[in-house]
Amino acid sequence: MKKPDVIVIGGGLVGSAIAYGLSKNARVLILDEGDRAFRATRGNFGLVWVQSKGLGAPHYARWSKRSADLWADFATELKDATGVDTHHKRTGGVHLLLTEQEVAARTAMMEQLRREAGNDGYEYEMLDAAGVRGLLPNAGPRVLGASFTPYDGVANPLYTIRALHTALAARGAQYSPGHTVSLIDKESGVFVVRTDQGTFHAPKLVIAAGLGTRRLAEMVGISVPVNPQRGQVLVTERLAPGVMGGGVTFTNARQMVEGSVIIGDSQEDVGLDNRTTVPVMSNIAARAMACFPVLEKAQIVRAWGALRVMSPDGLPIYAESKTMPGAFAATCHSGVTLCAAHAREIARWIAGGERPEPTLKLVPERFDVPKTA
Ligand SMILES: Cc1cc2nc3c(=O)[nH]c(=O)nc-3n(C[C@H](O)[C@H](O)[C@H](O)COP(=O)(O)OP(=O)(O)OC[C@H]3O[C@@H](n4cnc5c(N)ncnc54)[C@H](O)[C@@H]3O)c2cc1C
Repeated sequence: MKKPDVIVIGGGLVGSAIAYGLSKNARVLILDEGDRAFRATRGNFGLVWVQSKGLGAPHYARWSKRSADLWADFATELKDATGVDTHHKRTGGVHLLLTEQEVAARTAMMEQLRREAGNDGYEYEMLDAAGVRGLLPNAGPRVLGASFTPYDGVANPLYTIRALHTALAARGAQYSPGHTVSLIDKESGVFVVRTDQGTFHAPKLVIAAGLGTRRLAEMVGISVPVNPQRGQVLVTERLAPGVMGGGVTFTNARQMVEGSVIIGDSQEDVGLDNRTTVPVMSNIAARAMACFPVLEKAQIVRAWGALRVMSPDGLPIYAESKTMPGAFAATCHSGVTLCAAHAREIARWIAGGERPEPTLKLVPERFDVPKTA
């Protein structure tokens, strides 16, 4: 592409969703490092999840819910445009609880989320052991309770990224894998982006490079202090449809349309290490079997580790550079959940519209340490 209007650095879920929204009215070039990079998009769990988001940060709860509300229409639009089904479903979500301490902590958390939501409202239900068994006959005897909200659901992240890339190509956007960006500058009002495959120019720039965002955003004067957080995921052989029952989505085990159940996931601060480890996989499997004894006999056929893109408070960061206007950075640790809002509302803001209200506080300045006297 000779003269793009916008260059997006990063072709994962965040960059691709924003590029998709921008490509409606602009020529978009996506530069992506590709298979050599750590790519959370290829290793995640696929929840479109609202219920635990935004404790102490109601704006983030509102943002997550807004994206979940936009997802059905977004999935239909992608399917109509590309024929690729993202397998999005809003089933309602259940988090199962195995100890009295877990029940007490979850009850307090859900009540706080409801209180903080104020007039926005927050529908939820705490189920006791009998309530769980009424809803989920396949839950194990060790399950003491659960939280439920109607907001949650799933989407297959691999089909979602395929749908986005197919739709981008149909709109004339160019996706260039194997292009690692090493340097960004601005000359005569135009961004100059150097890669190992050549130099590219555009008047607008979006940095959405996952764990690469920290280093690249610094080059345009935006601080994006993200770090890796590992999650490990197990995959079973194909099992009978509906093996866990209930028709709802669970936080720690999910059956895919093909029949496999994916089980996970952990939260570990181990730096840039995406390997799997036996102790963590054992813990994940033990919890899943306690929740669903039917999984005890299932064979594990695959496992992986992947790195989340985590800010210090776990919330997204969206910013435009003050020193180099026209350069934006976007990052989050729930890129499946927020995909629809990124494609619609973040893209609209970057294109020149109003910044979405729930994101006004999701700026890097919140991490600035006040100077003491
Ligand atoms: C185990 C696990 C489970 C998860 N579960 C969920 C879930 O259930 N629901 C949910 O909403 N989210 C979940 N997530 C989070 C979700 O996967 C991420 O939020 C999302 O994938 C982030 O997308 P991204 O585009 O920012 O980053 P990535 O997917 O990491 O993509 C970044 C892209 O930038 C490119 N890049 C990096 N550096 C450069 C460079 N210098 N030049 C050019 N390109 C570059 C890379 O090639 C890569 O393609 C999970 C994550 C993990 C690890």
